[in-house]
Amino acid sequence: MRLVTRMGELHAARASLPRPLGFVPTMGALHAGHSALIVRARAECEAVAVSVFVNPLQFGPNEDFQSYPRSMDDDCELLESLDVALLFAPSVAEMYPQKLDVFVEPTMLARYLEGERRPGHFRGVATVVLKLLNLIAPQRAYFGEKDAQQLAVLRRMVDDLAVPVEVVACETVREPDGLALSSRNVYLSAAERRAAPNLHRALEKIREMLEAGEGDVSAVLESARATLAPLREDYLAVVEADEFRPLASVAPAATLVAVGAAFTGKTRLIDNVRVQTPPRAET
Ligand code: AMP
Repeated sequence: MRLVTRMGELHAARASLPRPLGFVPTMGALHAGHSALIVRARAECEAVAVSVFVNPLQFGPNEDFQSYPRSMDDDCELLESLDVALLFAPSVAEMYPQKLDVFVEPTMLARYLEGERRPGHFRGVATVVLKLLNLIAPQRAYFGEKDAQQLAVLRRMVDDLAVPVEVVACETVREPDGLALSSRNVYLSAAERRAAPNLHRALEKIREMLEAGEGDVSAVLESARATLAPLREDYLAVVEADEFRPLASVAPAATLVAVGAAFTGKTRLIDNVRVQTPPRAET
């Protein structure tokens, strides 16, 4: 694996790689969720590039940019074992040598949920991902469904700005008790870790009720809230996969996503599950 830390070295480094090239952008502190993206990219592409960059643009002023887990040595070892050809791991000063003046600004897709709770977050994500795509120039880029709203934003960015890359979405990797793997799970105390799967349980409750034909979203969310405790709800909602506007009612035969965010102690968890509502009952 070739490690590149300078933008100027990327052009030569990527020129020697066979195509198609798959790309997996990450913030490091790699876990089995990241590995699944890389394994899929390796299976579908001739070579795989990974980036490890904790992007300050996507963190709010009261968020965990400074304390975000960093484990570069372990990450390198894992990436070597997964047959990654190129690791791009720039410093913040290398990625942003001057104060940015031009950003990618998602609008409708960033209005609710994560976008509402974390102002500027998706602008930071979209801007860094476009810059990384320009630098790496892959044929395919792999993202996790774990961050479903982010995936929707990035799909839309690629579409709206005609970015020449194919976006590939990968299923969320979970612990046996349902908790979605996340770099931030290392923050959890033993008691918080025991409570954390309740977010997934609450989302599963929403899925079961909607798939059983319940159409009143507020009644469904009320039931799910009972499952969430002792986690503190940030939001629970049902949305369309390409719109991310909370719905008050659901149509028959619709493909939707139940999304949620909740706190345990100071740690904020997010998760989502896909929902398929039943066809309209014959009368
Ligand atoms: P991050 O390092 O958290 O920015 O994540 C990098 C990529 O890995 C993103 O596309 C995430 O959606 C994806 N990812 C993170 N956690 C998981 C997971 N548990 N399962 C699948 N993909 C994940």
